[in-house]
Amino acid sequence: MSENQNKLVIRNIGLILSGMLEKPILDGDAIVSVDGKIAGIGREAELDTDNAVVVDAKGTTVAPGLIDSHVHPVIGDYTPRQQQVSWIDSCLHGGVTTMISAGEVHLPGRPKDIVGLKALAIASQRWYENFRPSGVKVHAGAPVIEEGMEEEDFKQLSEAGVTLLGEVGLGSVKVGDTAKQMVAWARKYGIQSTIHTGGPSIPGSGLIDKDVVLEADADIIGHINGGHTALPDDQIVCLCEQCQRGIELVHNGNERSALLALRTAKELDQMERVILGTDSPAGSGVQPLGILRMIAMLSSLGDVSAETAFCLATGNTARMRELDCGLIEEGRSADFIIIDQAQHAPGKTILESIEQGNLPGVGMTIIDGVIRSERSRNTPPATILPERI
Ligand SMILES: [Zn+2]
Repeated sequence: MSENQNKLVIRNIGLILSGMLEKPILDGDAIVSVDGKIAGIGREAELDTDNAVVVDAKGTTVAPGLIDSHVHPVIGDYTPRQQQVSWIDSCLHGGVTTMISAGEVHLPGRPKDIVGLKALAIASQRWYENFRPSGVKVHAGAPVIEEGMEEEDFKQLSEAGVTLLGEVGLGSVKVGDTAKQMVAWARKYGIQSTIHTGGPSIPGSGLIDKDVVLEADADIIGHINGGHTALPDDQIVCLCEQCQRGIELVHNGNERSALLALRTAKELDQMERVILGTDSPAGSGVQPLGILRMIAMLSSLGDVSAETAFCLATGNTARMRELDCGLIEEGRSADFIIIDQAQHAPGKTILESIEQGNLPGVGMTIIDGVIRSERSRNTPPATILPERI
């Protein structure tokens, strides 16, 4: 019988990271997906593995594909910010299978009039819906709100398929009460919001301090560790304590402030609020390994286990963003990375090597049950590579 191309079995798995904070490691040595969705997790002998495309993980680790909660895409796999092509493909090689736009702000000549910004948001949503660079799921079409927008504008955006706001504060709306009104309109029509937090990122953007963040009440406290310029420590702690919104830590921010926010969330017993992004492309460029670097940084310096740090870049983000990926759970999208301890990395296990600050090697990425890349060209080489058999 010929193999079913819509069915995938990953067998011989050494470790399954679930993406779930409440149970970050699952029992089992095999995962089955059918038609792009996870259909079974457990012992190979107990699963239906017939007639499938088979990947032998050779004892390595499977985790959900990583989610970058904060990117600034523009069009296709090109960013004008640093004139780079194939930056999304490079991120796939760093284990990222889903990206969320915080605004298509690097478009040269970006329209700031209301009809223009709505048109751009709708067009961006469509072109990433219709074209997935290297298979990566890019959720885009995130308008940057401007003074003068009315409730009807948010209704129209929602009806046209827009589900995200770009970072509040990157446009002309920089005061709390206007931002609060627009964020509320967005929420009413099912549009999720993120607010820029901290000092200006690049010439043209401005300061958003804790009072504006608290008043605006956006769904995500975007880069609470600044992008790059962070708020003073007392304001970061106050934001973690005074509201219940998402706490986003980004690579292109202040690492010390990220650790402060992580520690504060941990003390509050609210780790489910912490999600990770890169905030790239940006002045700092593109970081194909940015999410993996955040995982290694936070687990080596932030006193969280490596398996927990993976949850911040997968399940936490999926739950907060209402995505169907990010967790190894039946019915979810079959988006995986297969990783192993990097060659010559210290530590007895992959988790220990990450907790010592080392990146894992990516051996394969899978999106919707389809193999998208094999040995990463960007990570340090994995000690053992999975193989399609
Ligand atoms: Zn920002």
